[in-house]
Amino acid sequence: MKPTTDPGAEILRATLFAARAHAGQARKGSAAEPYVNHVIEVASILATHGAPLPVIVAGLLHDTVEDTDVTHADLVAAFGEDIAGLVAEATDDKDLPKETRKALQVSLAPKKSDGAKQLKLADKISNLIAIADSPPANWIHARRVEYVGWAGRVAAGLRGVNPALDGLFDSTYRAAVAKLSAEEG
Ligand code: ZN
Repeated sequence: MKPTTDPGAEILRATLFAARAHAGQARKGSAAEPYVNHVIEVASILATHGAPLPVIVAGLLHDTVEDTDVTHADLVAAFGEDIAGLVAEATDDKDLPKETRKALQVSLAPKKSDGAKQLKLADKISNLIAIADSPPANWIHARRVEYVGWAGRVAAGLRGVNPALDGLFDSTYRAAVAKLSAEEG
């Protein structure tokens, strides 16, 4: 099917593609929401904070290559080089150990394109909301605190492209820190 340029149709086509790719996957949180809820939240954050259409569409697709059978070539065929490239910028190399991947996210963040910076910042915002409000059952308090600190270090390299998104990250980060401090006592 030839890709359409109508924004609403493009967003719905990417939503359906992501829902099918992530079928059967749940978020790690205690609510066990369908995984696709996360990518819809990322895309919604981007759309409501003025991100360009290709970044919103890439937001819907950003975890497909990392977490499903979808390949980069599949995304190029279905959505074109630009969107597939944004997804590639937001995809970790799963062959590397987890701690290496986390360190690379911090060091590579400032080198990303403006679109990928916005996408990754919205991803971190969605994950911070989840860590504060619906954390994985097996994540002890210290692990959640560590995650929030790491997300802040990654975000430091992603800022400066979209002030509205920077502001949302800051308020979400502060709320997550406040919630974790309150729980500790
Ligand atoms: Zn994600």
